[in-house]
Amino acid sequence: MHYLPSPTRYSAMSYARVGASGLMLPRISLGLWHNFGAVDRHEQSVQMLTRAFDLGITHFDLANNYGPPAGSAEETLGRALRTEFRSYRDELVISTKAGWGMWPGPYGDFGSRKYLIASLDQSLKRLGLDYVDIFYHHRPDPNTPLEETMGALEHIVRSGRALYVGISSYDAQGTRAAAELLRALGTRCLIHQPSYSMFNRWVEDGLLQETERQQMGVIAFSPLAQGLLTDRYLDAIPGDSRIAKHTGFLNHSDLTEARLVQLQALSKIAQERGQSLAQLALAWVLRQPSVTSALIGASRSSQIESCVASLERLGFSQDELSRIDAILQPAAR
Ligand code: NDP
Repeated sequence: MHYLPSPTRYSAMSYARVGASGLMLPRISLGLWHNFGAVDRHEQSVQMLTRAFDLGITHFDLANNYGPPAGSAEETLGRALRTEFRSYRDELVISTKAGWGMWPGPYGDFGSRKYLIASLDQSLKRLGLDYVDIFYHHRPDPNTPLEETMGALEHIVRSGRALYVGISSYDAQGTRAAAELLRALGTRCLIHQPSYSMFNRWVEDGLLQETERQQMGVIAFSPLAQGLLTDRYLDAIPGDSRIAKHTGFLNHSDLTEARLVQLQALSKIAQERGQSLAQLALAWVLRQPSVTSALIGASRSSQIESCVASLERLGFSQDELSRIDAILQPAAR
């Protein structure tokens, strides 16, 4: 049946400016790392995309290697862009990345100009688009001169393949160098995409200060620690969860006794606030003024709905923050 987006899609969501740029992103964005590959049911993937859009999620995040198999998440979105989202391209911000291994040989990995430009051309074909809104260098490359990688990003913008560029998982020093190089070439480094969650607070040790200094936006990936910071694992490991399916980097070994104690204590605070643990975890990431958007994943539409409902209660009292800090110590950093 023909998809007609909800006419109220912009009332449930709030949008934040990406650093000092003209672009705005929804506070909750949807990533297609898992559950959107060729191995997944297309109808289910499309249902999540349309539900997300109905809730005002205008930003879908991809990478060349998302699937499995690698590349197929871009194909899934490409198909949806030709059908369900045919009339809505200009209401969407679509990002993709290159930087991790994509094809064999020396030209399908890391950060050379050769790799980034060829990879984005492949992504555009899979997506069926003339340009993406944001293109990221997916991870720092210790061996390619940063001048070359940033020169490639600048060329990508100038050639019209992407409207904006960003970086992912760069440390504070690398972020500063990348932003300065791009600025000197006349292109803004729009946004940084780091991991950030209650269980992974590395960005608080200098990176967020640097992104603020550079007037860049921040989109926090895996804000639910790949599903750990949800109600999913409080009692047992569900058979359809990421841990059980071995699809991500999350393993049985991540669910230690100490982690479970933390999850139970955090869940108690969430309940006091009238939230689920996932909602508490998202509100906590979004409490940072420099975090533009929390980039979630989902295996079903109801998870997306529940994540968006976290926006109903974002504020924290000092007492709540101190109690959360106490629970997270010392295992969090
Ligand atoms: P999350 O930390 O949000 O984990 C998502 C998982 O959490 C879901 O698959 C689901 O687990 C569970 N979940 C989500 N919402 C709920 C809910 N409301 N209630 C209960 N459980 C819930 O993020 P991801 O690790 O999936 O990463 C998100 C995105 O970040 C990726 O798709 C990708 O775009 C980006 N990313 C970027 C990286 C980079 O290097 N730049 C690296 C990794 C991710 P289950 O599947 O078990 O149901």
